[in-house]
Amino acid sequence: MREWLYRLWQCTWGLPQTLAGALLYLRCRRSPHAPFHGALHTRWPRRDGLSLGMFIFTPDSGDDWGGRMVWHEYGHTFQSLLLGPLYLPVIGLPSALWCHCFREYRRRKCVPYAVFFTERWADRLGDKKRQRWSYGDEDDCAGYQNRRI
Ligand SMILES: [Zn+2]
Repeated sequence: MREWLYRLWQCTWGLPQTLAGALLYLRCRRSPHAPFHGALHTRWPRRDGLSLGMFIFTPDSGDDWGGRMVWHEYGHTFQSLLLGPLYLPVIGLPSALWCHCFREYRRRKCVPYAVFFTERWADRLGDKKRQRWSYGDEDDCAGYQNRRI
């Protein structure tokens, strides 16, 4: 998908989450930013990841700019393209609950983060895009399993 079409789609069909992402982007304006295949990637001072429309947020330590976590979050941006205004109730809210409310359950039962449908789907979408624009380094994903949304 061409970047201009990706951004246009995020700013129309995906407007609610893109607007929320833009506000968060402005709030994190002092954090480092970089374009990422049409999206805008911010490294913020938190341990988790977040994707809102065309805005991706990943931790400012550990994961590098092209790491696996950013591809996962990029996968969420395609869920935004597909679901439009349904993204927040269908993906955003369940993902946030799975990330924050089931942390202890996942740890106790050794349940992988990607078991949850929103995360598995984002992984698949992100992996598909990564294969197209691969940076080639698989070692940069260490420790990312339990930190993403
Ligand atoms: Zn996720």
